[in-house]
Amino acid sequence: MAQVHDIIVIGVGAMGASTCFHLASTGARVLGLEQFDVPHAQGSSTGFSRMIRMAYYEHPDYVPLLRRAYELWHELESQSGQKLLYQTGGLYLGVPDCELITGSLQAAKFHGLPYEMLDRRQLAERFKAFHVPEDWAAMLEPAAGFLLPEKVISTFADLAMRRGAEIHGREEVVQWKADQNGVQVQTTRGRYSAKRLVICGGAWSGKLLASLGLELQVTRQVMGWVWPKQPDLFALGSFPVWAIGHADGSLHYGFPMMGDVPGLKVAHHAPGTPTDPDRVERQPLPGDEESFRGALRRFLPAGDGPLLALRTCLYTNSRDHHFIIDQHPQHPNVILACGFSGHGFKFASVIGEILSDLAMQRKSDLPFKFLSLDRLRKK
Ligand SMILES: Cc1cc2nc3c(=O)[nH]c(=O)nc-3n(C[C@H](O)[C@H](O)[C@H](O)COP(=O)(O)OP(=O)(O)OC[C@H]3O[C@@H](n4cnc5c(N)ncnc54)[C@H](O)[C@@H]3O)c2cc1C
Repeated sequence: MAQVHDIIVIGVGAMGASTCFHLASTGARVLGLEQFDVPHAQGSSTGFSRMIRMAYYEHPDYVPLLRRAYELWHELESQSGQKLLYQTGGLYLGVPDCELITGSLQAAKFHGLPYEMLDRRQLAERFKAFHVPEDWAAMLEPAAGFLLPEKVISTFADLAMRRGAEIHGREEVVQWKADQNGVQVQTTRGRYSAKRLVICGGAWSGKLLASLGLELQVTRQVMGWVWPKQPDLFALGSFPVWAIGHADGSLHYGFPMMGDVPGLKVAHHAPGTPTDPDRVERQPLPGDEESFRGALRRFLPAGDGPLLALRTCLYTNSRDHHFIIDQHPQHPNVILACGFSGHGFKFASVIGEILSDLAMQRKSDLPFKFLSLDRLRKK
């Protein structure tokens, strides 16, 4: 028997959980459907930490969204009583003309964001763990830090349900349909109808939106944890989140040591091996450890200790590596958010607000139009 809700959200990961929370907070009758557990480790939001930065090297247009994202992260912390965001400062390193340094500086100057350029002496005094070439630039952004992804998703889902949302885990959506009367969703457990649908399927978005033929490439990504030779140099409270920019546009990046997850986390940000989210190899492969080990050896020798853990995660890369947020071109009552290309988590708070506004009012006052589908059609 079909059930009636105002809005159905497919996917209760980072974006979907936030959307359920924002919708429920407006009083909408929302149903969130998740194929795995809430939260889980099969998608894009696993690994205990996600970096957040404001001086956005990827494009300055993201900065107004980030300002709102930070406000909403702080509101979520105060509404839930949970600590979710750690502002440790962010250290960006690389040759002065690498994309990470030039892009971060451009965004900071354009939007008047606080930052400091550290000279060699300041870098050596404040962050002893880094050994980088003499001619590299070092930019420190005080607003940067990290979020706790699994705890964020749990918190959004918990508050959403306390505000009246219905969320079902372990219930896969196998088909959806939309017409001028509303939307219908068929799952492995039942059939539901609603006025509107929001699709936040992460790495499964290409499958859920097959008729659109979006170019979304899912890649297998690796994160590693090691026990550093000198743990004191990497302590939360004195060590920042960090990124090292390379000539090919990729980054090595990492986090301070955290109280509840042993070791030092480090990873390489670049699209990994293309894969299918239902068939991805989740066990370690030869070369996984080397994807970050070389950077430790060269730039953070005091961190280059024994391996503790390796985990896989998924990027869903759009053609230009920018997000896709829009109405479905054939179905105005369907909203889609995908292609977060390995840098979306920090925006989950504001993207949930945008998706909720689009679903409820068909518009959002936030400046997200640069992320619409049109740009991909024109090229
Ligand atoms: C290794 C790694 C490091 C990263 N580091 C950062 C970082 O430092 N900072 C940052 O900002 N971002 C980072 N990201 C990117 C960020 O984590 C992602 O952009 C973000 O998590 C994407 O959220 P999502 O909601 O699109 O996907 P997910 O959180 O994966 O949610 C999608 C959900 O949809 C569900 N779903 C799909 N199909 C169906 C269906 N048919 N029925 C029911 N449910 C379905 C899935 O099971 C999943 O739970 C990183 C990503 C990875 C992999």
